[in-house]
Amino acid sequence: MEILSSAQMAEADSFTINTIGIPSAVLMENAAGAFVRILLEKQPEMTSAAVVCGCGNNGGDGLAAARHLTNAGIHTDVYLACDPEKLKGDALTNLNILKNYPINVFTVTEDEIPSFEGYDVTVDALFGTGLKRPLEGFYEELVYSMNLSAEYIASVDIPSGLSGDSWLVEGTAADADLTVTFARPKYPHVMYPARKLCGEVIIADISIPDFAISGCDTFLLTPDNLPAITPREPDSHKGHFGHAVVIGGSAGKSGAVLMASRACAVCGAGLTTSAVPAGILAAAENANPEIMTFPVGISGIFTANGADRLAEFLKGKTVASIGMGIGTNPETAEFLDHIIENTDLPLLIDADGINLLQQKHYKKLSGRCAITPHIGEFARLLKLTTDEVNRDRLNLARKFASETGIILVQKSADTLIALPNGLVFVDISGSPALSKGGSGDCLTGLITGFAAQGFDLDFACMLGSFTLGRAAELVLETMNEKTVLTTDIINTVGKVLDELEQ
Ligand code: ADP
Ligand code: ADP
Ligand code: MG
Repeated sequence: MEILSSAQMAEADSFTINTIGIPSAVLMENAAGAFVRILLEKQPEMTSAAVVCGCGNNGGDGLAAARHLTNAGIHTDVYLACDPEKLKGDALTNLNILKNYPINVFTVTEDEIPSFEGYDVTVDALFGTGLKRPLEGFYEELVYSMNLSAEYIASVDIPSGLSGDSWLVEGTAADADLTVTFARPKYPHVMYPARKLCGEVIIADISIPDFAISGCDTFLLTPDNLPAITPREPDSHKGHFGHAVVIGGSAGKSGAVLMASRACAVCGAGLTTSAVPAGILAAAENANPEIMTFPVGISGIFTANGADRLAEFLKGKTVASIGMGIGTNPETAEFLDHIIENTDLPLLIDADGINLLQQKHYKKLSGRCAITPHIGEFARLLKLTTDEVNRDRLNLARKFASETGIILVQKSADTLIALPNGLVFVDISGSPALSKGGSGDCLTGLITGFAAQGFDLDFACMLGSFTLGRAAELVLETMNEKTVLTTDIINTVGKVLDELEQ
């Protein structure tokens, strides 16, 4: 599903109105009708509503919604936060209709900012995606009052104060319980921190058809974007599902590679080998009886010693992942260098593997590699601060993948999967159960496992990311989010595969 910028949404509106010929007033009527229908579903007990309207189209939606609420028997007051003379077009039409309705329309001025106490629901129809800069003065005070006094806030399109083009919260914005948006999600609905102010997000159809939407390069990752996962043939054997090599670990940090290896095997790789420094071989051998091991070198860390033998071992394997728990010792950097230079296998690089990655490697990795940095790792890679990355994540991710030919899985509560062809998928699956060491290792294992079974690396990244997130949702059916360990996530992967196979 496309994620639209405010300009793309305006184009879709305009195409629907001007080219297809659906009058704009019909779209406004559809939006208001859908908004009220959804609100009544969510708040079936409501008896009273305040509708706070601005003077743009968002306010027009609010004015029409006030009428639908009254029709549904809800006592409704309208607070018009602008000079009624300023209204035009469909918003003005809807204001004029209200003159024939038993609805109070109060014009709000800065002299008296209303309180919304006592209303079951406050409808926020002040600003939509047309907001150009952070709220100030009167509007800021009004939204502040709404947040302070309203019992339940339902926002039309986006909470007022958020930008339709950004996930950042700049200044005061409505803190909604419910947001009903139209046709497609916009950035603040899916990316943090703005997403936290939207409450539950529902996308309503207002009869803007799919073909009115074009030119999008950012998508919400849904099961529809994922390749089909099919049951195995009855006469299948392990050779059909690839041999994955998970390279990682160092003395004191063996867990990361072992969890990644388990996740890899659990999602269906035919064979999985954990390649670890010889010094931690015993830990690896004892951890997972289903997983083979390959000792590298003679010490507790990866060094150039033994890199040749590993590169030789990788020949004929299906995919390798590298980096979990390897540390950033200069000798380990030499090891990584050697592996990158001496294998052409599809390669997934995570954790310290990313910390050791250098620009000189990009060319060799182009077209066969994915990296999975969290924001800190991505910032280090780009030599930026985490704040700079947070402000510009989407562009930075798209640019990195396009310029290097490396698939980027930029992990966060909202994970961005940027492909070398310029497309970005936003994966919002998951839960705070993942906010614990080991979740990223599990992701690496899942991606490696899907790639081993024959999925291209881009699809393997999407499948892996979605599977991790969905497992972290399903695990909460039986567990408290704080108690969940990576092992519990791995043990839930089967439920996700069941869902995806349907
Ligand atoms: P649209 O009508 O484009 O759908 P909205 O309903 O969100 O968009 O309203 C946009 C209206 O609000 C425009 O008239 C615009 O000039 C005005 N506006 C935009 N940003 C601000 C702001 N920060 N403060 C006050 N008015 C604003
Ligand atoms: P580690 O290296 O300890 O295994 P990472 O920080 O590398 O962990 O990765 C954490 C993983 O958990 C990422 O895939 C991230 O997207 C996911 N994650 C963490 N917190 C959340 C959250 N609140 N919602 C969704 N996903 C989350
Ligand atoms: Mg990690």
